[in-house]
Amino acid sequence: MTNILVTGGAGYIGSHACKVLAAAGHTPVTYDNLSTGWADAVRFGPFEKGDLTDRNRLDQIFAAYQPAAVLHFAALSQVGESMREPGLYWHNNVAGSLTLLQAAVQAGCDKIVFSSTCATYGEQDKVVLDEESPQNPINAYGASKRAIEDMLRDFEAAHGLQHVIFRYFNVAGADPEAEVGEYHRPETHLIPLMLDAVDGKRDALTIFGTDYDTPDGTCIRDYVHVMDLVEAHVLGLDWLQEGKDSRVFNLGTGTGFSVREVIEQAAAVTGRDVPYLEGPRRDGDCSKLVSGSSRAEAELGWRPRHSTPDRMIADAWRWHQSGHYEK
Ligand code: UDP
Repeated sequence: MTNILVTGGAGYIGSHACKVLAAAGHTPVTYDNLSTGWADAVRFGPFEKGDLTDRNRLDQIFAAYQPAAVLHFAALSQVGESMREPGLYWHNNVAGSLTLLQAAVQAGCDKIVFSSTCATYGEQDKVVLDEESPQNPINAYGASKRAIEDMLRDFEAAHGLQHVIFRYFNVAGADPEAEVGEYHRPETHLIPLMLDAVDGKRDALTIFGTDYDTPDGTCIRDYVHVMDLVEAHVLGLDWLQEGKDSRVFNLGTGTGFSVREVIEQAAAVTGRDVPYLEGPRRDGDCSKLVSGSSRAEAELGWRPRHSTPDRMIADAWRWHQSGHYEK
């Protein structure tokens, strides 16, 4: 059994990652400050409460567990909030990651898998993005993640810290067994908000902008099932453990769906109406973010197996109705 340090292991993606790491024979050690995560979501390995910016605590954890690698999920990740409070993003995401990397180097841990984002690309002319597309983020969230990518390249050159960077597109769905799922408070993401509107927990979903330069005027995103996403992380970990070079991979499906199309899918899957209003654009949103995953498919052998909108919404709906949601 190998210890893997999972920062943000109590959060949405991190908790799913712990499940697949444990299934693959690793021991996921969750390090999380519970600012947006949930202790109940830590089910597959030890839990150590702590903050990314707390160097002493990180040094203790590296010494106690001697992790073979770090999976670094812990981050603030709301585009809108990042525009209102950029300092939070530079402090928590950038300064926190710097502290983590310094602690890892000192402890002799030389492998890290990092959660980056399609928000590092910003508005692009290309229809489908690839890993070589220029990175011009238009919000502080994307800027904070791009800065950490730069930091990783410098730490690799100077200290030999090997990395795999995954730039995610929109993560959705839940563990099909509903042991863990998506739970944010406040919730800001499209699919859980939509399901709240479907079952009356909120009056309506607001569509943020109907005047984008897209076929139906609403934003287009590439949605990836969280189980596919975390399976890529296990492949990324294998990649580093096999001694391969640091690498960046996009994780998307290559197919985009508009907000209106996702609403139609949610109505079809749940068999209920999705009450919605049409509102203004949200600051920091790009009109369209869609990626191919040919590099991840060719080099990692990754295949998105669950990432159809109906499957993602069905799994999210099962989780939503499981009662865990009421923790
Ligand atoms: N969105 C929306 N209403 C909401 C939340 C999101 O119309 O209440 C839109 C948002 O503008 C974006 C898409 O849904 O185009 C996905 O947003 P989300 O916040 O889920 O993820 P993000 O793209 O910010 O990572």
